[in-house]
Formats: sequence, C-alpha cells, structure tokens
Amino acid sequence: MNIILLGPPGAGKGTQAARLQATRGMIQLSTGDMLREARASGSPIGEKVKAIMDAGELVSDAIVTALIGERLDSCAGCGAIFDGFPRTIAQAEALDLLLAERGRHLDHVIELVVDEEALVTRITGRFTCAKCGAGYHDSFRPTKVAGVCDVCGSTEFKRRPDDNEQTVRTRMEEYRAKTAPILPFYQARGLVRRVDGMASVDEVAAQIDAILDASP
Ligand code: AMP
Repeated sequence: MNIILLGPPGAGKGTQAARLQATRGMIQLSTGDMLREARASGSPIGEKVKAIMDAGELVSDAIVTALIGERLDSCAGCGAIFDGFPRTIAQAEALDLLLAERGRHLDHVIELVVDEEALVTRITGRFTCAKCGAGYHDSFRPTKVAGVCDVCGSTEFKRRPDDNEQTVRTRMEEYRAKTAPILPFYQARGLVRRVDGMASVDEVAAQIDAILDASP
C-alpha cells in the first residue's frame, strides 16, 4: 500500500507516519528528514538547500524528486508513507511517474484538516530529544521531569531552526499557494480521504487506521 499524508506544517504528518511505520511496518518517506540529513552530513545538496529551508521556502522539485526516487528503489515492495511529499503539482506528477515505473500505485491521499492558527502554537513549542529523537511540546507534551528525556534520560534537546514564528508563516503561505492545489489533482481521481487533524494523536490515528483497514 502507498499513501500520502497531506496537510500544512505541524498538521501531524510526521507523528502519524512514524506511528504507521511502527505499527504496520510501512516505511516513512519524509523529504524534510532527508533534506535535514543532507544538511547535517554537509553534502553538496545539504549546502544548497540550507538557506531555502531556513527561510521556509520550497526546495526545487528536481532535488526532492530525486531523493524520493532513490528511497523508493531501496524499499521495493514496502508500503510507503509519503510525508511532506509531494508539495507541488510538478512533484505530484513526478510521483505518478516514479510509482508507475516501479509497477506501484497510490492507494490513498489522507488530508489532515487543521486550523492554521493553532498550528503556529503547535510548531513553535515542539522539540525533540537530541539522543533518541522522542518528540515533546512545551505546553502539550512536556517531559515528565523538566529537562530530562522520558525515554532515554538524555538532557540534551533540539529544536528545528525553521520552527520559529516568522518561518512558520512563510511555510504556511507556501502550503496554501503551492501544496493545497494538489488536492483537486487527487480528488479528481477519488483518492482523497479527510481526517480531523485537530483531534488527539490517538483519535487521528484511529481515523487513519479505519481508512487503511477498509482498503481491499
Ligand atoms: P518538513 O520537515 O516536511 O516540514 O520540511 C522542512 C522543509 O524542507 C520545508 O520547509 C522545505 O524547505 C523543505 N522541503 C521538505 N519537503 C519538501 C518538498 N517535498 N518540496 C520542497 N521542499 C521541501
């Protein structure tokens, strides 16, 4: 099964993709994570995309499409969860081609429907453990003991440099202008399923599970 999780930054795509990876053995293909890895490794691609990501703008279609193609080749036969990709019509068209070339097809495009203003609070408060990657939030999910990771006990945490209010607003604008227009593209093919992204993580998970379990 191949699915896309679609929604603005902070809608919960990454959280739900990680859960599906853990519970269903599907593979999370997050272009944001791939680009952050490229940055951290100091690769030529990483250097190229740094300023664009920090500004909250979109990286070129060619770069992200190439990254996704490589990952698809290394997970032949896996159930893929596209997280943060496609983000433009050109990427959606490229994905069709990448899948068709590999004898695969899209099963669902799951839209996480959210209230944009609430997202700014969600995003600017989030942080992760620098050691094990566990996710937290200043208000909604603080560590049980202040400054100590619940999972691994580390005292080092990190925040994404693009999770500040100004950049988040640009990311939202990019979503509205370039990514939301993908919806009609998939609606015309009857692939879009909507879930309430403002519900709790477990409720959203249950809604997604119901969609996947109803698939033939
Ligand atoms: P994300 O982790 O999905 O929020 O992505 C973080 C940043 O990486 C975005 O704000 C973009 O700068 C870049 N990015 C991630 N995925 C894509 C994509 N599919 N197309 C263009 N830029 C992307």
